[in-house]
Amino acid sequence: MNLKHIPKRSCVSCKGKFSKGDLLRLVYDKHSEEVSLDIKQRFQSRGAYICSDEKCYNKMFKKGVLLRFLGSNNLSSEIISHIVKERT
Ligand SMILES: [Zn+2]
Repeated sequence: MNLKHIPKRSCVSCKGKFSKGDLLRLVYDKHSEEVSLDIKQRFQSRGAYICSDEKCYNKMFKKGVLLRFLGSNNLSSEIISHIVKERT
């Protein structure tokens, strides 16, 4: 067996393990002081990964998950609609 190593990341809501490509990465943008979507996964700052399960999104938005992971809960409605769009 010679399987390629695929880095796994955990979803911040369900704690499930997924390959990076199956998750969306959220980062805290110091400049805008808002949580932002890191589509190209190039932000160096600490990120939170979220899987494509609707339940996980709802939980993330409602509970203090982002506050715990990113130190901010400051999600603009623009970002939220972007996330929902990315997901579908
Ligand atoms: Zn999840």
